[in-house]
Amino acid sequence: MKKTLTYKILEKNLLTGTLKTGNEISVKVNQTLTQDSTGTMVYLQLEAMCIKDIKTDLSVAYIDHNTLQAGFENADDHEFIKSAAAKYGIIYSKPGNGICHQLHLERFGKPGDILIGSDSHTPTCGGLGMLSIGCGGLDVAVGMAKGSYYLKAPKVLNIELIGKLNPWVSAKDIILYILKELTVKGGVGYIVEYSGNGVKELSLTDRATITNMGAELGATTSIFPSDEITKDFLTRQCREKDFITLSADVDAVYDKKIKINLDEIQPMTAIPHSPDNVAQVASLNNAKIDQVAIGSCTNSSYTDLMKVAKILKGKKVHKDVSLVISPGSSNILKMMADNGALGDLIASGARILEAACGPCIGMGQAPKSNAISLRTFNRNFKGRCGTKNADVYLVSPETAAVSSITGYLTDPSTCGDMPKVEIPEKFHVSENYFIYPLKDRNNLKVVMGPNIKPFPINKALTPTLDGKLLLKTGDNITTDDIMPSNAKLLPFRSNIPELSKYCFGTLLDDFHIRATENNGGFVIGGENYGQGSSREHAALVPLYLGVKAVIAKSFARIHKTNLINSGILPFVFKHKDDYKNFDAFDALEINDLHNALDHGLEIILINKTKDITTQLIFEGSLRDIEILKLGGYLNWAKNSDI
Ligand code: SF4
Repeated sequence: MKKTLTYKILEKNLLTGTLKTGNEISVKVNQTLTQDSTGTMVYLQLEAMCIKDIKTDLSVAYIDHNTLQAGFENADDHEFIKSAAAKYGIIYSKPGNGICHQLHLERFGKPGDILIGSDSHTPTCGGLGMLSIGCGGLDVAVGMAKGSYYLKAPKVLNIELIGKLNPWVSAKDIILYILKELTVKGGVGYIVEYSGNGVKELSLTDRATITNMGAELGATTSIFPSDEITKDFLTRQCREKDFITLSADVDAVYDKKIKINLDEIQPMTAIPHSPDNVAQVASLNNAKIDQVAIGSCTNSSYTDLMKVAKILKGKKVHKDVSLVISPGSSNILKMMADNGALGDLIASGARILEAACGPCIGMGQAPKSNAISLRTFNRNFKGRCGTKNADVYLVSPETAAVSSITGYLTDPSTCGDMPKVEIPEKFHVSENYFIYPLKDRNNLKVVMGPNIKPFPINKALTPTLDGKLLLKTGDNITTDDIMPSNAKLLPFRSNIPELSKYCFGTLLDDFHIRATENNGGFVIGGENYGQGSSREHAALVPLYLGVKAVIAKSFARIHKTNLINSGILPFVFKHKDDYKNFDAFDALEINDLHNALDHGLEIILINKTKDITTQLIFEGSLRDIEILKLGGYLNWAKNSDI
């Protein structure tokens, strides 16, 4: 008794360690997912582990990010992933099938199981009671090869939802409201568990919208109980056999509890350039808009898009607005084609895009200069949309659709009765975009076109690290800042030498030259260094350029793991004020590292230029230390049983 839902699932899957908050444990991984942007690296790493078969119950390789084929590069990557999937027994989802998280929710997610994915929005499947964690690509490669995943037993934050939603207010408004309350750091170190009578108010895909954006809270993941609404969703997807009832004990003990009254929530928007910079839409009425983009793994479900179609039926998109819509899956698109809703959207003047990430990852539909773009997506970091000086506001599908007609940011609750969406008894379920692995996979070869280049593997850690301070950054540096991702660069996700020319490109034009000329060195960062995504390239590219250690005031969770996995040392300042004592090109040195890490001794950073010393702390497990000493997780995993 007294168990949280999270700890029930962890207990069922526990492989090593004692299940106590803060302890390092390993758990059995039931499922994995990859998308193509991180997936090429994952399958190169899987290849390097020389395994025959994967050890998970089910793994899926989705192609949803780099679907634009303007040159051979993306097509090469797709072929490589397809051939690796066939060789190792992984399901391959073809481009056009849809966005990984929406598809995984529809076709594979299972209450009570553990999913890890090389994408930070993997927690989407938490909406159906699955413990779904976004992590680094190497974690996923090892998860497939060994069937296990290491994590720190998390604290659990309970968000109790009470009350009833107002008309025109939906799941996106709830999670934006929570982000306003908790900020982008509010979930760090926690798994968020939802409970309360308000949970019954939410459809399965509403719940998935909320768990999806738990990533923006910095939470390890978020999860809803599995109940009658979960069963209903799985039944409509012809998967009732996957259903189990699952919830926390009534007297479950949580590390922190918050109550949110749904009645108090109004249509919300996240103002540029952070998802927690949230205001009520009503307070910003009349902001003229240029673009509306509806879709992404956050808000592209059948219900979301049908609401949009009903709002737009018989209406016209404003003459100065470009409305683009990307469905979450090919099944949703097919159902909307069959029931006439697609025709309503087209008739209104909407542009229909492929079922893929599209504009969310900057893959097309960059807004014009200085534009205001309303998006139903999960992130509005500066430049992510592909236009540096555009302003992106995050909104619900209802707000987006209504605003696309008026031409300005409009509170939808001023628009009369909200249209009702009927959910079909059975969803369209097509397998035609999936390629399932053959039973006999002997003699299958992995195909590597010229865009696939070897990835960097670190060497064992030397006792002394020395070099120049290559770059000092401010707070909240994102993985987009470290390794930008846009339509121009995405085709090079499997080509680290080419990508390295753009490392830290939003901050500095010539980091790669500086790093190469100085034979690598150190980076210093502020608070929340590496926030934003699971992008392993934000560690692999600095590794390729010789970065040995990153010293910050604090780190974002997945990025810190990615640094350790690459063999780059992540240190934090013992006294945050010491940050101010450093300037670019200072000569730095750390001695006696093995001894200090092994015995938990103070780590002393010597600034030879300024002749001062600074105390650093390494916050990690004994296994993390072993990984760093061996030069990264791949080297460690090759020598480990689990
Ligand atoms: Fe794709 Fe955007 Fe979701 Fe990432 S956040 S998986 S790019 S839709």
